[in-house]
Amino acid sequence: MGRGTLYVVATPIGNLRDITLRALDTLRSVDAVVCEDTRRTRRLLAHHGITARLESHFAGNEERRIPAILAALAEGEDRALVSDAGTPAISDPGYLLVRACRDRGIPVVPVPGPSAMAAALSVSGLPSTAVRFLGFPPRKAGERRHLLASLVGDPATLIFYESPRRVRAFLAEAAAALPGRERFVAREITKLFESTYRDPDPGALPEKGEFVLVFGPPARPAAMAPAEPAALAARVEALSREGLPEKEALRRAAREAGLSRRAVYDAVKGKGARRG
Ligand code: SAM
Repeated sequence: MGRGTLYVVATPIGNLRDITLRALDTLRSVDAVVCEDTRRTRRLLAHHGITARLESHFAGNEERRIPAILAALAEGEDRALVSDAGTPAISDPGYLLVRACRDRGIPVVPVPGPSAMAAALSVSGLPSTAVRFLGFPPRKAGERRHLLASLVGDPATLIFYESPRRVRAFLAEAAAALPGRERFVAREITKLFESTYRDPDPGALPEKGEFVLVFGPPARPAAMAPAEPAALAARVEALSREGLPEKEALRRAAREAGLSRRAVYDAVKGKGARRG
């Protein structure tokens, strides 16, 4: 008998209808569904008229459960891995099992669907060219401070998950540590009390529900902070080396520096920078 397949299946993050037709087909057809909270997954399956054998696999028993799941897959059985909500292995158990399958040549197939980070980013109005997903911030204050300090000049949009109990404090701390970044908060996505906040006052956030925090890129990348002609010229050159035509490189450098394209052109050609 050939090896079975591990399907990594995304499930809703609130609205039970946010599940793909392929996810439902997969959950119906596999020999067993590997899940975090069996009661929660049973509710989801029942909502869609699916009866499946459930096997538990959560943060506390993940490593212990892996050998039995691998043995079933090796015998040709298929498994669907789900988490309580969203995409497994995204701030959820799963990566150890996926890795163990990959190490043994067992096929792993994604069945994509909701993830809170992608949903929040998609409605944030913040750039998604470069994104750094950081999951839950460290609980220890020192580690958190260190992480935030390391992100100051990062040109990416940053995404965090946070619990309702800590969301106000973390937003205040991150806003102070990462000045000049636009902030966006998405709460209870796809649920009854779904709400979004732009640059909110931390104290205005309810301390209930589920939250994703998004921080836009720094207003001006650290390297460009002084609008020095040499720095502008270096940035234009770097962008040109990345393959951008000169006009586009000037436009991009100007946007990053908060200057007009003409001002950057003049600076680069040695006529001195002008604001505007
Ligand atoms: N695997 C999930 C995913 O793909 O989004 C994430 C699981 S993680 C344990 C749970 C965290 O995701 C929550 O604490 C919250 O930060 C975020 N989250 C999950 N569902 C959400 C929702 N409906 N609205 C806002 N945030 C949500």
